[in-house]
Amino acid sequence: MSDISINTGPLLRVAVNVPLSREFDYLPPRDGAMPEPGCRVLVPFGRRQQVGVVLGHGSESSLPAGKLRRCDAVIDASPILSANDLRLIRFTSHYYHHPVGEVVAAALPAVLRQGKPLHPSVEVVAVSDAGESADIDQIARRAPRQAELLEILVDAGGNGIEAERLTEELPNWRRAAKPLFGKGYLYRFESRSADLDENLQGTAEKGPALNDDQQRALSTLRSDDGFGAYLIDGVTGSGKTEVYLQRMQDIIGQGKQVLVLAPEIGLTPQLVARLTKRLNIQPALLHSGLTDIERLAAWRAARSGAARLVVGTRSAVFTPLKNPGMIIVDEEHDHSFKQQEGLRYSARDLAIVRAKHLDIPVVLGSATPTLEMLQHCRGGNYTHIRLPVRAGGASAPSIRLIDTVRTPATDGISEPLAEAINKHLDADGQALIFLNRRGFAPTLICASCGHVAGCERCDSRLTVHARRQELRCHHCGATRRLDAQCSECGEPVKPLGEGTQRLEDGLRQRFPGHVITRIDSDSTQRKGAMGEALQSATRGDSDILVGTQMLSKGHHFPKLTLVGVVNADQGLFGTDFRSSERMAQSIVQVAGRAGRESRPGEVLIQTAFPDNPFWATLIEGGYRKVSDAALAERELTRWPPFTRLALIRSAAHHHGDALGFLETAKRFAAGKAGETLRILGPVDAPMARKAGRFRAQLLLQSSDRQTLHSLLRELRPALEQDPAARKVRWSIDVDPIELF
Ligand code: ADP
Ligand code: ZN
Repeated sequence: MSDISINTGPLLRVAVNVPLSREFDYLPPRDGAMPEPGCRVLVPFGRRQQVGVVLGHGSESSLPAGKLRRCDAVIDASPILSANDLRLIRFTSHYYHHPVGEVVAAALPAVLRQGKPLHPSVEVVAVSDAGESADIDQIARRAPRQAELLEILVDAGGNGIEAERLTEELPNWRRAAKPLFGKGYLYRFESRSADLDENLQGTAEKGPALNDDQQRALSTLRSDDGFGAYLIDGVTGSGKTEVYLQRMQDIIGQGKQVLVLAPEIGLTPQLVARLTKRLNIQPALLHSGLTDIERLAAWRAARSGAARLVVGTRSAVFTPLKNPGMIIVDEEHDHSFKQQEGLRYSARDLAIVRAKHLDIPVVLGSATPTLEMLQHCRGGNYTHIRLPVRAGGASAPSIRLIDTVRTPATDGISEPLAEAINKHLDADGQALIFLNRRGFAPTLICASCGHVAGCERCDSRLTVHARRQELRCHHCGATRRLDAQCSECGEPVKPLGEGTQRLEDGLRQRFPGHVITRIDSDSTQRKGAMGEALQSATRGDSDILVGTQMLSKGHHFPKLTLVGVVNADQGLFGTDFRSSERMAQSIVQVAGRAGRESRPGEVLIQTAFPDNPFWATLIEGGYRKVSDAALAERELTRWPPFTRLALIRSAAHHHGDALGFLETAKRFAAGKAGETLRILGPVDAPMARKAGRFRAQLLLQSSDRQTLHSLLRELRPALEQDPAARKVRWSIDVDPIELF
C-alpha cells in the first residue's frame, strides 16, 4: 500500500463492519451533505452495500481519486453516537488491536447495525372487542394453542403486544393466530416502538441506616464527583449494595445518569427489583433476555437521557449516556465481564477508561476482588474501601474441612456432610450443595483398561448425561449414545465422578420427603426456569439446593444456613497461574450465601487434601490472606498484574498451519522485541483440537505495557497481510484471562 496522500476534497472516514484494521474513505453523497461523525451511512463495499458509521472528516486519502467511491446515502440526520461514544470506540479498537468497524458493530444494538431507523415501526398484535368477549374455555377444548394466545393478548389489553415479544413467549404463535385473525378476534397494526416510561407510582422504599464502615465508605465516595476509581472490597453481605444505592440516589437526584454493569448471572430479578424499589425509577435494562426491539428501546432511553438508571451486562459498557454521572461495576471479579471471542474486551476495564474520559467516578465492588484491582489500590491509583464485617449483625460463616480420604463420599456426599444437612434441615434451615461442574458424571471411564470416552473432533472428554442416556462434548456440542461397553476392550463401563444430576439423585434417596432443587445451566435452559427456581429458593420452599456457579453469585436466600462444597480439589492443582485466586473466589462467594440473616452459617468443604496450605490460608485469613499470598507469588514469578500479557491464538485444519502461523508471529516479535519482552511458545493449546481444528497459542509477556502494545501495533497489520493467515483462524487477546 502506498502512503502518498492525495488531496481529494472533502472525505468521510467511515467504520465498516469488516475484519480489517482500518477506516475507509468515501466521497460524500451526491447531494453534497456532510454527515457528522456518529451518523450512520450506506456505503458500497466490494460488491455489496454496507452500513457504516462516520468517524470523522478528511481531505486527503491514500487512495487515488479515481478509486474513491461515493457514499450512497446518509441514514441519520444527526449523530446517534456522541464524540465521547466514538472516543471509547476508538480506544477499544486501539487497545485491543481490533478492527474499529467491528467495535462499532459491538457497540450498536442489532437493529441499528442493520441500518434501521432509531425509532423503527414494529408490528403489534392486539385483541378486538369480539376477541375480548370470546369464550376462551370453549376454544381451549378444540384449540388449546389458540386459547393460550388469546389469553395472553386479553391480559395485555388494548395496547397489544409487539410481535417479536410474542415470538419470544410463544414461538409458533402465528399458526395459532391465523384463525383468530379470520374470526376478527385479533388485529394487527404498525406502531412506533414503545419508549421506556421510567416513572413509577409510589415512593422510594427506605433502606437501613448505614453502619460506621458503610458511612465512611459513602463519605469517601461523596468526596469527589470527578474521575476516581473506587474498589469496594467488602465481605459478602457487608452492605456494599447499600453504599452504592445511597451514592446513586445523590447522583440521580442531581439529574444525572448511573450505569450499572452486572455479571450475566448476577443480573437477576432480585437485583433489578431492589434497585427499582429503592430508587423508585424504572431502569433501562440491557441483557440477553430482550428482543432486539426492546434492547433498542433501552439503548434509546439511555442515549436520550430518559432513563436515569441503566443496568446491563458486559456490552452495556458502550451504551451512550446523555448525562453520565457514575458507573458501577458490581462483582468486578466476574469472568463474564471479559468477552472471550471476537472483540475480546474487558467491560470492567473499559468502564474505568470510560469514567476517566467522562470525568466521573467508577465504583467497583466485590467480596473477592481480582489481584489486578488490588494491585491498583496498592499502587495508589484506585481508592481501596474495605467493609470487613457483615452488615445488620449477621455473622461470618464458619468454614470446616471434611477429609474425604477418612470419610469417603457416596454419590458425592460424605457422612459428616449428610449429618450436617440433617441438622440444618431439622433446625428449619436450608442447605446448598455446590459443585463446580455440570452434567451427571463428567467422564465415562473403563475400569478394566482405563479408556476414557473422548470426543472425536476435540481433545476433550465427553460428559455423561445419564437422563438422556447420552455423551456430550461441552466444547463442540457433539453428542452420541451412552456406551454400555468400553469401545476399546468391550468390558462394561460406568460413569465416574459426581455431576449435579447424580448429586441430586443421591440426595433424593437420602432425604426423601424434602424438596430438592437443582440449579445449573442444564436445568435452567427453559425460559423463566432460572427465575422460578431462584424464587422458590428465596421463599424457602426448597430445602436443599444443588448447583453450580450459577448459585454462588449475588443471591440472597434468607433461610440458607449450610453450604457444602463437594469436590473442591480441582482448583488446588490447576495449571493456570490464576487457579488459586479463582478457587478462593468461588469458595468465598458460595460460602457467602450461608447465614445472611440472623442464624449463623456453616460451610463444609470436602477435600482429599486437607493439609494443602491453601486451606489453612483461606480458613484462617480469608480471601484477604489468599490474595496477599497470591500477589506476593505473582510478583516473584512475574505474572500479571506485575506483567502484561497478550495471547495470540490460531486454529487450522492442519496442525502445521496453526503452528507455522505462530512461528511467523514469533519471528516478527523476536525481531522487534525489547529487553522486557518474553515470548512463550508457540505451543499447542490446552485443548489442542476443537471441532476438528488444531489449536495453538503464542504468549507475549512484558513488564512494560507500552512495549507490548507497540509490538502488537506493528504485528497485527503484518499478520493480516501474511499469506499464511488465510489458512488459519487467528486472534489477539489482550489481557487474556483464560490462558491454559
Ligand atoms: P453486599 O452487597 O455487600 O452483599 P447488601 O447491601 O446486599 O450487601 O446487604 C446485605 C444484607 O444486609 C441486605 O439484606 C441488606 O438489606 C442488609 N444491610 C445492609 N446494610 C445494612 C445496615 N446498615 N443495617 C442493617 N442491614 C443492612
Ligand atoms: Zn467435541
